[in-house]
Amino acid sequence: MSHVIYPQTNLKAVEQLVLDRGEGIYVYDKQGKAYLEGMAGLWCTSLGYNHRELIDTINEQLGKLSFSHMFGGKSHQVGIDLAEKLSAMVPMDNAQVFFGNSGSDGNDTHVKMLRYYFNAIGKPEKRKIITRERAYHGVTVAAGSLTSLPANLAHFEAPLDALGILRTDHAHYFNGRIGDETEAQFVARITNNLEQMIIREGPETIAAFIAEPITGASGVIVPPAGYYEKVQEILNRYDILFWADEVITGFGRTGADFGCNSMNIEKPDMMTFAKQLSSAYIPISASLIRGDMYEAMVDPSSKVGVFGHGYTYSGHPVACAAALKVIEIYERDKLFEHASDLGDYLQQQLRAKFTDHPLVGEVRGKGMIGAVEMVANKQTGKAFADGQVGAKAVACCQDNGLILRAVAGNSLAVCPPLVINREQVDELLTKMETSLDQTLAFARQQGLLEE
Ligand code: PLP
Repeated sequence: MSHVIYPQTNLKAVEQLVLDRGEGIYVYDKQGKAYLEGMAGLWCTSLGYNHRELIDTINEQLGKLSFSHMFGGKSHQVGIDLAEKLSAMVPMDNAQVFFGNSGSDGNDTHVKMLRYYFNAIGKPEKRKIITRERAYHGVTVAAGSLTSLPANLAHFEAPLDALGILRTDHAHYFNGRIGDETEAQFVARITNNLEQMIIREGPETIAAFIAEPITGASGVIVPPAGYYEKVQEILNRYDILFWADEVITGFGRTGADFGCNSMNIEKPDMMTFAKQLSSAYIPISASLIRGDMYEAMVDPSSKVGVFGHGYTYSGHPVACAAALKVIEIYERDKLFEHASDLGDYLQQQLRAKFTDHPLVGEVRGKGMIGAVEMVANKQTGKAFADGQVGAKAVACCQDNGLILRAVAGNSLAVCPPLVINREQVDELLTKMETSLDQTLAFARQQGLLEE
């Protein structure tokens, strides 16, 4: 056993795969076995591995200015350029950008900026944040409190009350519907619950509603048509900000530039980015707020003497150079269009191959992100009692040279690098089909299926 404390790992079962190198969309273990990286690492390696052009840019920046901070008025051109580029890309008014190092700290920054902003405009009581059941927003103290997955909350004593965390329904029709409720009835019920909660708590106490436009870690939930339209209508009615956590959905993943644009979320007030912002070559996050929110923060900071928030590596020049180059490659190589076209093919093939599979209750996704949910009873959609079927499917994939991940127990997620081509999508799906058939045999042998 090594001396690593492994993140998001069963500490009794560590080191199941030791990877050595990557090339394109494949990674290789120590024995040289190739794996198609069907999860783009952790939903992040959009340009794949060993991208020479990007590595050259990173090396150049390392040689030119390997570090410079942004405290106290210091800056550098790549940081200024990246903020300007992001501000021009997003569906927000005059966005201002705060740089960090991870999706989690990007979300923590937003929690702090929300408080700063509402204090600045004389509404200090407006500080609660609505998150959704099954949300994943990271693991730092504040972001981890916005996350709703049981494993990320158990034993950590998150300061939920101090942070004013409110939880509303998740938007997964397949798991959340009651009886023979239609999608439209489901949306009407859960958005009504949201509105009732806002009224109960007092809208004047609620700052923002946070959502992943399409979720990742909680099982790739694509909300039904009309959901976000209704949510925005309610938030506007009660003067509550829409905060889009685009850590997974940003930069082409859903077949559009941003998940907000795929999901009809108009003009979010705040957006969080990480992961594909730099294709995971160097850690970086960006927390964006509306220009007028920034303006409101200027005077109070000047009274204190400083906007007292910032990381040593906020705007790290190497990370900024990497992100700028990644965005240039996205645009030049038309990767968002590619993700849209190939994403349509991926979604259509996932449905064609797996909708009738005896182990599969639902196939879902959009663009280049998807999941198949394995269930104990195909007719009723009844879930398995634990996650052993998901774990088995992941192990079968691994044996077959494919890396996928089981999320929300037994949903097998698919999220390949955006640079994948059609033949490689076919390879992914063939390996996935073989693995699901093997998992089916296992589930039958163990008597886990109600057939
Ligand atoms: N937000 C979302 C939607 C995520 O999926 C993640 C990570 O998967 C995070 C935030 C946290 O990002 P990080 O792991 O970089 O802290």
